Amino acid sequence: MASTAGTAGTNSRAHQFSIRSYLDRWAARGDAPPRVTSTLNAVHDDDLEVFLKNLGVAAAFHAGMLKCAFCGDVITFENLYSVFADSGAVRFACDRADCAKALASKVANRVA
Ligand SMILES: [Zn+2]
Repeated sequence: MASTAGTAGTNSRAHQFSIRSYLDRWAARGDAPPRVTSTLNAVHDDDLEVFLKNLGVAAAFHAGMLKCAFCGDVITFENLYSVFADSGAVRFACDRADCAKALASKVANRVA
């Protein structure tokens, strides 16, 4: 089934945890360049760099030490799907359908 392709309408809550939402939040705080707000459709490397630095994980990211919390794949610019907090730690999810699904249910459990 191709139900996981594109934006899942039923997972609007998980969508709030997308990196673009985070960038938007940082932009609103004034920690990120204003242009971020107008380029949310394409997260540029520079914007992600600012984002990762704000999280304090930029060095780990570039060292290939950030792993998907679900499948363990190394997180890269290409496969970064979402960032979320877990027990005070910053976690990442890659863009595999299974991981996006796992994240959605994890988020759902947390807020339920
Ligand atoms: Zn994954």
